[in-house]
Amino acid sequence: MFPGQVYVSIVDCKSAGSELWTTGQTEGCAAFVGRCPGRRPTLVKSLKRAINVLTSREINGDDISALLVTAHPDDECMFFAPTIIRLVELKANVHLLCLSEGNYYNQGAQRRQELLNSCAVLGIPDCRITIVDHKKLPDDPKAEWSVSLVSSVIVHHMRAHSFNMVLTFDESGVSSHANHTAIHKALRHLAFSGQVPNDCCLLSLVTVGPLRKYISFLELPFSWLQPACLRCIIGSQGYRRAKDAMFCHRSQLLWFRYLYITFSRYMFVNTFQTIPQGPKNLKMY
Ligand SMILES: [Zn+2]
Repeated sequence: MFPGQVYVSIVDCKSAGSELWTTGQTEGCAAFVGRCPGRRPTLVKSLKRAINVLTSREINGDDISALLVTAHPDDECMFFAPTIIRLVELKANVHLLCLSEGNYYNQGAQRRQELLNSCAVLGIPDCRITIVDHKKLPDDPKAEWSVSLVSSVIVHHMRAHSFNMVLTFDESGVSSHANHTAIHKALRHLAFSGQVPNDCCLLSLVTVGPLRKYISFLELPFSWLQPACLRCIIGSQGYRRAKDAMFCHRSQLLWFRYLYITFSRYMFVNTFQTIPQGPKNLKMY
């Protein structure tokens, strides 16, 4: 569709050749991502392209080790649920690094548990979740998180694991929250300073404008037509799971959250762009 583009869709096996966007069921169907619709490569193959694995051997879903970096408990389901659900379906190893407890209203302990519950619904086990509680990384839209501090936290986590994919917000952070955008700045810093392993790709979640953001699944055609290096779409079954995860964050369930759950396109689709990387001239120890 677009040169160099990786896209995700679901094939409806009953209607050969057609692309069905709104099914969350994978049984009997094949999920695929690729550069060319006619070739119908698998999701794994396209993820492999995205992570630039220079090997001819086939990789399985469990060869994919993805790290999602968020700022607050609830970011994972508010913004990234389609991606987590699709990767977990592939049996990819999905880890979460959440850089605060979400302690803005002194509810940190409760929100920590809510995050664990939400991730259990989405398919991320407790052992793959890291929640950072650092006094210089407060949950506060007015706080400027230090790029070097955030970078060092992320690098430290990457050293402890072998991720071939790291996902986070883009420069607008979906909601323009300063804590979200700080993570993007940190990852961009790591990318340009060559501190990311060769086989690891960095992906940022595309922020769309308010008109596209709040038209629910009706936004899918726009997401489909816009260039993206990775696109994750879920259907009704996946949406129910994303909604269940949102309900785990009981401390955040104010009236406008229900509107968000109903109308946000991020409950159905995620599109990503690659964060370009500089020369690989530094080693990680
Ligand atoms: Zn947030």
